[in-house]
Amino acid sequence: MTLKDQLDKIRQERKEDIKDVVDLKKLDSLRVELLGKKGPITQALRGMRDLPADERPSFGQFANSVRDELQSAIETRRDELKKDMLNKQLEHEKIDVTLPGKPVAQGQPHVIQQIIDQIEDLFIGMGYQVLSGPEVEEDKYNFEMMNLPKDHPARDMQDTFYITKEILMRTQTSPMQARTLEKHDFSQGPLKMISPGVVYRRDTDDPTHSHQFHQVEGIVIDKHITMADLKGTLELVAHELFGDRFDIRLRPSYFPFTEPSVEADITCFNCGGKGCAVCKYTGWIEVLGAGMVHPNVLEMAGVDAEVYGGFAFGLGPDRFAMLKYGVDDIRNFYLNDIRFLTQFSKKG
Ligand SMILES: [Zn+2]
Repeated sequence: MTLKDQLDKIRQERKEDIKDVVDLKKLDSLRVELLGKKGPITQALRGMRDLPADERPSFGQFANSVRDELQSAIETRRDELKKDMLNKQLEHEKIDVTLPGKPVAQGQPHVIQQIIDQIEDLFIGMGYQVLSGPEVEEDKYNFEMMNLPKDHPARDMQDTFYITKEILMRTQTSPMQARTLEKHDFSQGPLKMISPGVVYRRDTDDPTHSHQFHQVEGIVIDKHITMADLKGTLELVAHELFGDRFDIRLRPSYFPFTEPSVEADITCFNCGGKGCAVCKYTGWIEVLGAGMVHPNVLEMAGVDAEVYGGFAFGLGPDRFAMLKYGVDDIRNFYLNDIRFLTQFSKKG
């Protein structure tokens, strides 16, 4: 068999081999085997020197054409294999539009927001405005206009985060009372407002303290407002939020911005007033602070305290939620653990 015949045999046989290869790796090793330095074509070209001189050019041409033919067969096969792979992948990843969809979980307001919404609805029904104020507040509104001058000892109980000496994270939502009192035009009617929102204290977090919590503060200023109005309002709040069997009682207390000041207790949720460990066997649980607005607060906001007066109160939705749902650690409200939060359905 001549060198040329040998080469022609390789051409025919190996072209079939190339067509039979089913993966790219094997195709590549076949390419090296056929067209590489140790491959049959290179070998044949080396053997060319043994041929008579006049046969060499045509043999050289033939050898080159075999190499080109095998090379293009390899490339064609490579394209086919790549296309197959892509088709298989597409088939695998195909979306079946007839399959049923996965249900989308429906969210709900945070349990604290649910309580705030309930409180807002109640007060809007009594003709109050709902106003929210800045959480980054001036010392002037947060403390001074609330009758807490710079050297006042009660400031220690409300230590907060300071941005500058005069700007701080508000410790209460009552600065909004001062801001509103300053602007209110009493010739247009009484001032009745609540201000819900987040407040901050420099407290170390524990089961009953959080450096961030919520408050709803309210104020009513008009002529002839008495403590009976305050008590009536608080009773209504207790009945609406917790139920008719809940009573309130007022105990004397002290706040710099009210005089007289009271703490309001509500019938114990746990024992209904009989006495238990939750209420420390008193039958009552403290829920909010209130009082008649201090004349200094009115005068500092430019309101004539000889003519106008009223009451203010502040309650904590976090504490309400803890009492209402028996949550024993306030930090649960701020961890955003969905397993905790989804326990409070919208209707509570
Ligand atoms: Zn009790």
